[in-house]
Amino acid sequence: MLKDSLETVQNNINEACKRVGRDPSEVTLIAVSKTKPVEVLQEAYDAGVRVFGENKVQELTSKMDQLPDDIHWHMIGHLQRNKVKYIAGRVELIHSVDTFRLAEEINIQAKKRGIIIPILVEINIGNEETKFGIRAEDTLELVRQTAQLDGVSIKGLMTIAPYVVDSEENRPLFHKIRDLSIDIRNENIHNVSMDILSMGMTNDYEVAVEEGATMVRVGTGIFGERNYNI
Ligand SMILES: *Cc1c(COP(=O)(O)O)cnc(C)c1O
Repeated sequence: MLKDSLETVQNNINEACKRVGRDPSEVTLIAVSKTKPVEVLQEAYDAGVRVFGENKVQELTSKMDQLPDDIHWHMIGHLQRNKVKYIAGRVELIHSVDTFRLAEEINIQAKKRGIIIPILVEINIGNEETKFGIRAEDTLELVRQTAQLDGVSIKGLMTIAPYVVDSEENRPLFHKIRDLSIDIRNENIHNVSMDILSMGMTNDYEVAVEEGATMVRVGTGIFGERNYNI
C-alpha cells in the first residue's frame, strides 16, 4: 500500500540522517507523481504528502487544478521556454534550469507578475549525453550570469545521477555536487544561496542523504512502477 511505502521511504531517510548525524527535518521528501492519476495523488495527500514533483508542464498544471491548494508543487523535469508562463508563480521551485536562455525567460515571466521565482541549477554530473543539465565545470559561470537577473533567485543545485545497480557508485558524484555547492557559496554571489541540494531518487536517495541532499525526489519507491503506455 502507498501509505506503507511512504512510511518506509521516510524511515529510510530518517535512518540515513541518523548515520551521518543530520536532522531529518533538513530533508524534504518530494513525492514524484508523474504518470500517476490524480486519484493516486489524492491517496498520497490523504496519507500526509504535501510536496509533489512532476516533470511535464501540462500534467503538472492539470493535476494542480484538480487537487487541494495547500500542495507544494515542484517542477523537476526539462522545461521548454515557451511553457514557463504556465507554471510561473504556481510552483514552489523549478529544479531544472540548465541554460541562461531559460533563466532569462523565467525572469521575464517573474517580472510580469511582480514576483521572484526560486530555481535550482541542474547539473549533469555523470556527463551523460542523454541527460539535461550543464557540466559541473560550467556551473559557476551560469550561476554568475543568472544571478544578475533579479526576477530569479538561485537556491541551490540539482542533479540526476546515472542509473546504477549499486547506489554506492553514485556516492562520489553526490559528494562532488556538495563540494561544488560549497565552492559556489564561498563566492558570496549576491542573489545566490546554496541552501538546497536536490539529489537522490528511488535507487540512491539514502546515499544522497548521507552526502548532504536536502531534497530527495522519490517516485517508484512511493508509487510503484510507472506505466508509460496508458
Ligand atoms: C522520475 C523522476 C524522479 C523519480 O524517479 P524514481 O526513480 O521513480 O524515484 C526523480 N527526479 C526526476 C527529475 C525524475 O524525472
